[in-house]
Amino acid sequence: MSADPAADAGAPLIVLSDVWREYPAGDGTIAALAGVDLAIRAGEMVAIVGPSGSGKSTLMNILGCLDRPTRGSYRIAGRETAALGPDELAALRRERFGFVFQRYHLLSELTALGNVEMPATYAGTAPADRRARAAALLGRLGMADRLGHRPGQLSGGQQQRVSIARALVNGADVVFADEPTGALDRTSGEEVLKILDELNADGTTVVIVTHDMAVASRAERIVEISDGVVTADRRVRDGRPRRRAPGAGAASAAPASRWRAAADRFREALRMALLAMNAHRLRTVLTMLGIVIGIASVVCVVALGEGSRRKVLSNIASLGTNTLEIFPGKDFGDVRSAKVKTLVVADARALAEQPWVAGVTPTVSTSSTLRHGALEVSAMINGVGEQYFAVKGTTLAEGRFFDGRSVVTMAQEVVIDENTRKALFADVAGGAVGRTLLIGKVPFRVIGVTKAQQGGFGSSANPSVYLPYTTVQARILGTWSLRSITVRVADDTDTGLAEQAVVELLTRRHGTKDVFILNTDDIRRTITATTAVLTLLIAAIAVISLIVGGIGVMNIMLVSVSERVGEIGVRMAVGARQSDIMQQFLIEAVLVCLIGGLIGIALALGFGAVFAAVGSSFSLVYSGTSIVAAVLCSTLIGVLFGFLPARNASRLDPVAALARD
Ligand code: ADP
Ligand code: MG
Repeated sequence: MSADPAADAGAPLIVLSDVWREYPAGDGTIAALAGVDLAIRAGEMVAIVGPSGSGKSTLMNILGCLDRPTRGSYRIAGRETAALGPDELAALRRERFGFVFQRYHLLSELTALGNVEMPATYAGTAPADRRARAAALLGRLGMADRLGHRPGQLSGGQQQRVSIARALVNGADVVFADEPTGALDRTSGEEVLKILDELNADGTTVVIVTHDMAVASRAERIVEISDGVVTADRRVRDGRPRRRAPGAGAASAAPASRWRAAADRFREALRMALLAMNAHRLRTVLTMLGIVIGIASVVCVVALGEGSRRKVLSNIASLGTNTLEIFPGKDFGDVRSAKVKTLVVADARALAEQPWVAGVTPTVSTSSTLRHGALEVSAMINGVGEQYFAVKGTTLAEGRFFDGRSVVTMAQEVVIDENTRKALFADVAGGAVGRTLLIGKVPFRVIGVTKAQQGGFGSSANPSVYLPYTTVQARILGTWSLRSITVRVADDTDTGLAEQAVVELLTRRHGTKDVFILNTDDIRRTITATTAVLTLLIAAIAVISLIVGGIGVMNIMLVSVSERVGEIGVRMAVGARQSDIMQQFLIEAVLVCLIGGLIGIALALGFGAVFAAVGSSFSLVYSGTSIVAAVLCSTLIGVLFGFLPARNASRLDPVAALARD
């Protein structure tokens, strides 16, 4: 960064030989520069003059490594620039060059201080150092009281001083000024020229482009250019004795460590992304909406699927495991099954004798009116065996179950459920057990109350009561056929085999196959598979909406990039690497998606709370995995769909980008 030995020894710092810059025009090309030879020594102040359109800016852009010659050689301190890659050129601009443009090219969202600090951020200067240096430079240029002002709040002359401070913050040893006074009034222009003069007096090489001879006459050397060729090159004054002031030239501030510098650049990119998002709030929110809806629906669908699956599985669990439910009829939903009277208690007894059966309970059922005192309620009457409660896993809130003797003696005993207790015995002091209720006209003694079961099939608000099946058959129905037989298969027996054996046994006993079997394992498997397929299906739709949302993000990011081409050009001119630009736009895309994703998750959780509040029969089950996946997914969408716009931005040509502002 310090003036290199070759330059100190008197060799020119900058050497152009036979430089051409041609632009495509129609079928052929037009040459903005047509064979320029020019050498500039370190510490010189050179004015490049010529009429409008003569190629001054083109020359300046090539000198500043914003543009490349189409032909010819450009050497800086002995190094051929044609051999340098974009990031090496960026490093040159960052470390050795400073630019002052006619239209200032300040970033409007940043304060004066922020604008001056920016190149130092890319150079990796520690934040405190660069702030101090930027403030000191602005102070030296008479801007100490304007550090927090944005460009829009500054006059043209003040803006140009900010841009000069920006050119110097990294300790540039060459300052390129393209018509620096072109947009300024006389006084401000005079001040800017004075500053450039002083810089040169301090040892900085200054190249100033102008069409104004009065401006040019301040230089020690005037290069005239016309139609892309140098027409005159004369020394009008002797060069000043060079003195390199401390603080000028080599960036005095020590660069921060590699990691600290990278983290610092990341922070800068993050800040810029937030500024850009804030500048287009409505657009950002609308862009986010797609991601919000996508993520919210994915999370909700997964939670709904899991919630309903658990609900159904717990229902099945309440049927008991390893149980077969034997019904009369050909198959599930057989309309004539009620007319099939062949399933009888003797079948249950025969099944109970099988070695692979752990328990059997016949059931009969009907509905009837229950009465106690003045209260009455219609209830489901279940006639069951004494093993029923064990097979089903029913538990008692109070009292006891009936036993085998009750079944044999057709005892008039009844176990009621929680719903029945509420309907008939809510106001009875001392509870329901021991009271008598009427089923139809027959009196029964309440011997137990079951605990409310968690979501079993038919665990609705309907009251149910349990009596010995013999009692129901003899005293209520007057028929001996059964509604079903529930078999609990021994643990070491395969339920499939047991099912076959049951069908065989009953077919032999009845002479024909007139029963069918519900196997809880089958039901569980079927339902699990069904909910999985459904969840997958709806999730696929949600993912499509996420992709649509992602394309929306990409679209807006492309717009954002093309809107901010000027900003990108400025950043590149002050030495941002391609990766810095890429990072800035990627961060913006990821931020939009990530914030959208987080809002989406919050929305989904809120939906779950509402769902629970309206008293639905099951709740949404959010898995940590699905939420983490949603966050990762939205980040990924940001990276994926932000990549193309960010790459477009980073591959912009600095000079083309600047020209479009
Ligand atoms: P000056 O700065 O001296 O006014 P420029 O260097 O901007 O002139 O332009 C020199 C010539 O090159 C002009 O004729 C201009 O039309 C042409 N030129 C400059 N930039 C482009 C471009 N991007 N595409 C085509 N022609 C260009
Ligand atoms: Mg120009």
